[in-house]
This record gives sequence, C-alpha cells and structure tokens, in this order.
Amino acid sequence: MSDKFDVVVIGAGPGGYVAAIRAAQLGLRTACVDEMVGKDGKPSLGGACLNVGCIPSKALLDSSRQFHNLNHLFAEHGISAGEAKIDVPVMVGRKDRIVKQLTGGIAQLFKANKVTPFAGHARLLGDRKVEVQFQDGAQEVIEAEHVILATGSRPIQIPNVEFDGELIVDNVGALDFDAVPGRFGVIGAGVIGLELGSVWKRLGSEVTVLEALPDFLGAADADIARVAQREFKKQGLDIRMGAKVTSATAQDGTVAVRYSDAKGDHEITVDKLLVAVGRRAYTGGLLSDEAGVKVTERGMIEVDEHCRTSAQNVYAVGDCVRGPMLAHKASEEGIAVAEIVAGKPGHVNLDTVPWVIYTEPEIAWVGKTQKQLKDEGVPVKTGSFPFAATARALAMAEPAGQVKIIAHAETDRILGVHMVGANVSELIAECVVAMEFHASSEDLARICHAHPTLSEAVHEAALSVDKRAIHRAN
Ligand code: FAD
Ligand code: NAD
Repeated sequence: MSDKFDVVVIGAGPGGYVAAIRAAQLGLRTACVDEMVGKDGKPSLGGACLNVGCIPSKALLDSSRQFHNLNHLFAEHGISAGEAKIDVPVMVGRKDRIVKQLTGGIAQLFKANKVTPFAGHARLLGDRKVEVQFQDGAQEVIEAEHVILATGSRPIQIPNVEFDGELIVDNVGALDFDAVPGRFGVIGAGVIGLELGSVWKRLGSEVTVLEALPDFLGAADADIARVAQREFKKQGLDIRMGAKVTSATAQDGTVAVRYSDAKGDHEITVDKLLVAVGRRAYTGGLLSDEAGVKVTERGMIEVDEHCRTSAQNVYAVGDCVRGPMLAHKASEEGIAVAEIVAGKPGHVNLDTVPWVIYTEPEIAWVGKTQKQLKDEGVPVKTGSFPFAATARALAMAEPAGQVKIIAHAETDRILGVHMVGANVSELIAECVVAMEFHASSEDLARICHAHPTLSEAVHEAALSVDKRAIHRAN
C-alpha cells in the first residue's frame, strides 16, 4: 500500500509537529511520522521537548521551587508551616500527568487540523518516498511532494562513562528518580546540568557538578555568568570548574567518579550520576543512500538559510540542523519551512533567538555577549541595573540579579541583552521584540514601563546606557 501526501514530516517534536500543523493549515495534505513512545509504551507526540525535555524539567523545577521556598523563603514573609516533606512519586506523577495532557493535546491538534499521524520509525528512500516501520513489524511506504526532517538530537556519551539508566543516567533518567538521591553528581555545568542539578539540590541532594572548561557558562555574558555562579554557590551547588572526568563506575548501588583538574586526580562517590555534556543531532536509521541528503562530519543534516537540504524538496529543521538546540527555534523553522513549501516567504532570524536557563535566579539573553562583540571589534557602550534596586524584586524578596544592555557605541542599536534574576524568562521577550525592530537603547529608555514591575530593570538598564538611570548612582 502507498499513500501520497503533499508534505511528510519525520519527527513530531516542536520542529516537526508545528511544521505539520502549519502545513495542514495552509491546505497541504500532511502526514507526520514519529517513533517516540511514552512511559506507558504508547505513541507519544511532542518529541524530546514534551516527553523528556522542556516540559517535564520545568514541572520538576516548579515543584522543587515550591518546596525550596517553603523551607527557605516563606519565613521572611512571616509564614511557617511546620516540617516540609516531599513525596517524590507524587511530584513525578504530577509531571507525568502534565506530559500526558500536552502530548495528548498534540494528537487532538493533529485531528483538528487533519494531519495524518504514523506511529513508527521512518526511513527516507529516494524520490521523497518514506518507509515507515511500525512497532508490530509491519511496513508501509508513503510518498510526498515535500519531506521535512525533524528528528531532533540525543545526549552525547563520554568515554568510560556508560549510561545504565539506573545509577548513571541522561536527562530521561534524571527526570524520573523515585527518591531524592543523597549525593547527586552531574557531569557538565551546562543548561541541563544546572536545571536538573537545581531540582535535586532544592529537594535535599548534596549536588556536585563537574565541568571540564575553566569558565562558568561560557555561552552567557561574563557579567551575568559571574552573578549566577555566585548565587548557585550560595545555594550550595558545588560546581567544580576545570574538572575533566576520566571514568565513572557503578558498583554496589553507588557510582565512583574519577576526574582530574589543575590540582591532580580525584575521586568522588555519588548515589546517582547525570551525564549532561551536550547533545548531538540524531539521524539514526533515517537516511538511505538514495535519499541524497548530506550530513556534516558532526552528524548534523546540512541545510541552507531556508532549511533546504542537498536533496530536492527535502528540508530539515530543529536540533538535527545547525543553530541553537532550542524548542522555539525548532518551531520557528518548522513554520518557516511549511510556509516556503506552500509558496510563501519563510525565514528565521537565528541572531534573535532568545536563550533561557530556568534556574533560580533565571538566566536569559538575546543577541551577542560583550566578549563576542569585542572579539569582532565592534565598539559598544553598556548599561546595567540590579534587581535589588527595583521595588518589585524587593517586595518579592527576590533581589538577586541584574539586566545588562549592550548597544553600538555610535548608532546606539541594541546588540545584546543579558539578564539574571526573577522572571527574566518573561522579561527577555521585550528585548527580542526590540532587537527584531532594530531598536536603539534610547527607544527602550523612552518606553513607559509599568510600576512596580521587574520590567523596570530593563527600562533602567536602557537609561543607564546613557548614564541616566534614576534609581541608582550612574
Ligand atoms: P525533538 O524534540 O528531539 O523531536 C524529534 C522527534 O523525532 C522525536 O519524537 C523522535 O522520536 C523522532 N524521531 C527521530 N528519528 C525518527 C525516525 N527516523 N522516524 C520517526 N521518528 C523519529 N529547549 C527549550 O527551548 N527550552 C527548554 O526549557 C528546554 N529544556 C530542555 C530540557 C531537557 C532536559 C532537554 C533534554 C532539552 C531541553 N530543551 C529545551 C531542548 C529542546 O527539547 C529541543 O531543542 C527540542 O526538543 C528540539 O525539537 P526537535 O523537534 O528538533 O526535536
Ligand atoms: P550544554 O552544551 O548546555 O552543556 C554541556 C556542558 O558540559 C558544557 O559546559 C561543556 O563544557 C561540559 N562538558 C562537555 N564535556 C565534558 C566532560 N567530558 N566533562 C565535564 N564537562 C563536560 O549541554 P546540555 O546541558 O547537555 O544541554 C544540551 C542542550 O539542550 C543545550 O545546549 C540546549 O540547547 C538544550 N537545553 C535547553 C534548555 C533550555 O532552553 N532551558 C534546557 C535544557 C537543555
């Protein structure tokens, strides 16, 4: 049997499912093939993001934040509630229900938009034919005018550290512990390491993070990374920089982790070990030789600025191509490609994709760091403002952090905005809009911001670029 579609999307993560819905909205006959199954063994749409990434991690971050605040913040408000306890299976069950609700929601959206789902593994043959292998061993070949590859990414493994799914885990395992580990080790002080390290730290684990590089959060602006590192240290996260892990061995219910740093060789023992050293584009079993799709040495599908691959009418989006591995970037590419396929213009500006790290305080940025601009020889001026000088942050008892705006020294155009503090995941949106509209720092400074809100820190940082912040000495 062979079905024919205008568009076949492979992968139903935020890149693929969004592309499929948009293509169907535009009147294209669309199918989406995905092989992921949920904890119940049934097909589960939404990819890594909904099943084992963004959503479950944010659910646990929120639960652990409530627990932490009850233990450490509420007393300042005069609230006490006896001894706080955490029931980990209940917390994980709540996370699982949110995942189920959202993945089921995509199935409903597919139905409403008339996207045909195929639950199985897809392999791209020649001439845009897609072979689907179902769980029960059955096979079907579907044909398409256009194919969109959105197969995502998988965690990178390091030598001498084997995942066992129990004691040595990746993100999937670390989202599903049934009890708080006494000692939690993390390899990699990146986004996953900091977010999941924070979850288990807040719930009571002793957390040690081993990071190979000497500089903390190298992708973030140095001023912001410094504030974040100080706050994480205060919270008791033991982050060891310049620590190169040589091996990890699970034995008798614990893990021995060996690493070396400038001072020599060391060994620590932990109860659970998370390996979070980055992710790699995933194309396992996807491309036949006849498909004609080129892959880079690092395993990424090669695409141009419109997400076109080397094969005609075959596109690729999201984590399996260049650019940041972020859900919203994947979705924007999915929409752009669906629109291109439908004959409309479609484009994603990778220079204004915002980054958010959902720790406490949160970290967010858009555009370039001061170091990047210095290396490029771009003359800049900067303005910054601490949350401690805003009334709202003080009222919330969350004064840590700051906003920093970097503008071109001559034109005043905003080139980067970097934040650490409460709710910066939301505050960054204003700055993305500003940069998309090529705003100057003066534009932001002239916009009226509601009082008392955290957004006043953005306003004051913009004023401070011109040394005219009101609520601090310039
Ligand atoms: P994916 O979401 O990986 O989806 C790919 C899908 O394709 C999967 O369902 C896979 O099973 C399927 N597939 C692969 N090969 C085939 C095949 N041959 N046949 C059929 N199906 C196939 N990003 C954010 O922006 N914000 C966050 O807060 C955030 N938190 C994260 C937390 C964690 C713990 C992790 C691991 C990631 C997080 N990310 C976050 C990153 C985000 O999850 C990814 O950038 C995003 O999921 C990429 O979307 P995608 O559609 O490209 O791929
Ligand atoms: P990452 O790239 O953010 O961090 C990996 C860290 O591991 C780096 O600091 C790196 O220097 C370090 N490292 C690499 N090899 C090492 C080794 N052998 N020993 C010790 N440290 C080592 O990767 P991640 O945390 O695995 O996350 C993967 C990607 O998933 C992120 O880059 C991001 O794109 C996405 N993600 C996003 C969010 C979010 O948007 N909030 C959350 C989680 C994940």
